[in-house]
Amino acid sequence: MKRINSLKNLMNLVFSIVLLSFLLYIVVDLYNISNTLKELQKERISLAIKNEKDTFVTLLRLGFIDELKEEINKIITFSKDIENIEIKWKDKKFNYSNIKTANKIIIPLDKGKITVYYQNNLIDKFFDKYIFRFVLYASVFIPSMIILFLFIRKKILKLNVLAKKLESINFKKISSFEKIDGSYEIENITNAVNKLLKQVNRFYENQKNFIYSVVKYKNQLETAQKISEMFSWEYDCQENIFNIMGKTLKMFNLKSSYTLNDFLEHILPQDRKIFEEKIKRLCKNGEEFEVVHGFRNKENKLFYFKSVGKLKKNKIIGVSLNVTDEIKRQQKIEYLAYHDSLTSLPNRAYLKDEFLRLMNLGKRDNKKLAVLYLDLDNFKMINDTLGHENGDKLLITIAQRLKKVLRKSDFISRIGGDEFIILLYGIQDKKNIKDIINKLVQSLTEPIVIKQTPIYPTFSIGCAIYPDDSENMEELLKYADIAMYHAKNNGKNSCEFINEKLKKQINDYYNIINDLKEALKKDDELVLFFQPKIDIKNKKISGAEALIRWYHPQKGFLTPFHFISYAEKSNLITQIDRYVLKKSFEILKRWQENGFKDLILAINISPNEFKQNDFIDNLKMLLNKYKIDPSKLEIEITETISMQNMSYTVSVLEEIKKLGFKIAIDDFGTGYSSLNYLKKLPFDTLKIDQVFIKDLDTHTDDLIITEMIVQIAKVLKKQTVAEGVETKKILEIVKELEIDVVQGYYFSKPLNESDFENYVKNFKYSEK
Ligand code: C2E
Ligand code: CA
Ligand code: CA
Repeated sequence: MKRINSLKNLMNLVFSIVLLSFLLYIVVDLYNISNTLKELQKERISLAIKNEKDTFVTLLRLGFIDELKEEINKIITFSKDIENIEIKWKDKKFNYSNIKTANKIIIPLDKGKITVYYQNNLIDKFFDKYIFRFVLYASVFIPSMIILFLFIRKKILKLNVLAKKLESINFKKISSFEKIDGSYEIENITNAVNKLLKQVNRFYENQKNFIYSVVKYKNQLETAQKISEMFSWEYDCQENIFNIMGKTLKMFNLKSSYTLNDFLEHILPQDRKIFEEKIKRLCKNGEEFEVVHGFRNKENKLFYFKSVGKLKKNKIIGVSLNVTDEIKRQQKIEYLAYHDSLTSLPNRAYLKDEFLRLMNLGKRDNKKLAVLYLDLDNFKMINDTLGHENGDKLLITIAQRLKKVLRKSDFISRIGGDEFIILLYGIQDKKNIKDIINKLVQSLTEPIVIKQTPIYPTFSIGCAIYPDDSENMEELLKYADIAMYHAKNNGKNSCEFINEKLKKQINDYYNIINDLKEALKKDDELVLFFQPKIDIKNKKISGAEALIRWYHPQKGFLTPFHFISYAEKSNLITQIDRYVLKKSFEILKRWQENGFKDLILAINISPNEFKQNDFIDNLKMLLNKYKIDPSKLEIEITETISMQNMSYTVSVLEEIKKLGFKIAIDDFGTGYSSLNYLKKLPFDTLKIDQVFIKDLDTHTDDLIITEMIVQIAKVLKKQTVAEGVETKKILEIVKELEIDVVQGYYFSKPLNESDFENYVKNFKYSEK
């Protein structure tokens, strides 16, 4: 087949067939012609003889033999092809000659026959002419055929060359190929091929660029996915199949395809439902899809993914971003936000959440909830003697032991250094609670050995019950706290339940604090009273002590006794002190501008305020603002604070002195400070506590102590003030003791500003 399909072979075949059929045609033609010619000659001769037949017969009958011979002779002579005529008639036989050719015609006679011998010369003649013509034709036809054949063959061979060339074309390398010389058609084909090649080339380049950029983008996408730790997926809403794509598959060890159920199996149970719902909703109404969910891969490794998706023609195209670190960090932060780092117990924030939850549960199920406030006894002492590190160890062990004895439904938290809060859910009565407390105490009977020292920790415990004592969390905590304080005051290692009396105390406390906060916002509720101080040696007013009073909107006029200790507990005291400081500066300014420039105003500074970092700065600021004579302001600090942190106290006092203020040590005598210690403090005045003064006339001890204090002051060259001088008798003793200044009801109670000014104006020293 291939051979025939080849144009060259086909050409050979066609050429051979044409040549053969040409020859065959000639042969057949010649054969026919020669036959026809034979017949024609035969026909002509027989016709000629037949025409003469009658003449012959007549001549024979007549016996004109010679004439016959003549006649025959004539015929033969004239005919070019008749060689001999033989006549048989009756018994007679006539012969022209003896020639007997192969070609003869027999013509019957009534009494014999005529046989004509003749030569086929017509054919010869024809052939003579035909061969010449044939040779002539053939000599033109065959060479031209051969030439044509060779020509076409050559072209066809060139086609093969072209084909070979075309075959070897690498369109990536060439954009055109050179022309094969010769034929117009080949040239055309070459041109066409070149045109095509150019297009192919362009297409190839475009395709190459396209593929290159696709590959580039694919790589970029994969790199981006790797960097951002994400993978893309496709979910077929009808087939319920997830197909996961990209190289990050390996990173998370995912399969490339999951059924929805299979995929959901891997999602953490708590995230499963929402994920499924959102996927279905997206498939149904194209709603937005964004879920953060845990996912366990086939190796059970947990990842967190943020998955987002969009619906496109029944398919969700989505990406999932690895947010494991973020979520774990968040969980850690959440854990830290809700746990105490030392003991790993829940902290205050957690307690509040849990408290509210249990209260709600109790409300629903009609169950009680007990709040136990535990405070470790003597923890400060343990901490100070064994060191903080061991204190921490102790707390950890205690936390573990307490946790162990509690039921699953109970909750324990650590809310401060040595304070724990336990919530007991579903308790029935106080006995019930006491049993649990016993268990807690029991867990601590075995000593905790730290640094070879066995420690027997005990707790003071306060208890309040929801809903019996309150239905408010903060209040319940307050009640448990106050009950715990009560237990502590009652000798520690015991448990107290909140009761009505304690409740009142605590409520009073909070009411006062709240009211105080309000009062501090105003200017007229908290006012200063002034108690005159009399210099008994010079018999004149040396100044006054500023003492705060509160015009409470409901409770009326209140002395410090009703609120100062509360303010100290709540730290509102520093605000009060700042308020008093400011007021004192205002007053001093007025006094110094209005003829009371010698009066010294003493003010009380609480330990809290004294320890404030900006205490000195505040003084400087006020001094700068009011420009008063600082030597007329005396700052009273109690003996107890001055003892707490010696070097700090000394440095602050020195600063105060540097600014030009005076310093008094208040309530002296109660703090047991040594002479040695007192020596180091820069101060001006010693105020002897009224506990010693008020009974000077009856208690010899007080007299001795007061005498001693005065001696010390004399040694140190300090002024002395006797507080609480109420009677003339006491005044006499004070005078005898050579105390410099007296402050007490004997001269005056604390007075409001205008009364005090009047007092000063009208003052005349007298002893009634
Ligand atoms: P304190 O500093 O020892 O003040 C002297 C207290 O003794 C005043 O009580 C005063 O009224 C009272 N007193 C004076 N003379 C006599 C007397 O002859 N007999 C009796 N029985 N008492 C006398 P007050 O005003 O009730 O103040 C009580 C305490 O409250 C003060 O004791 C002081 O520690 C504190 N305090 C008062 N005002 C302020 C203040 O503005 N700031 C601060 N931080 N504390 C203040
Ligand atoms: Ca005072
Ligand atoms: Ca005092």
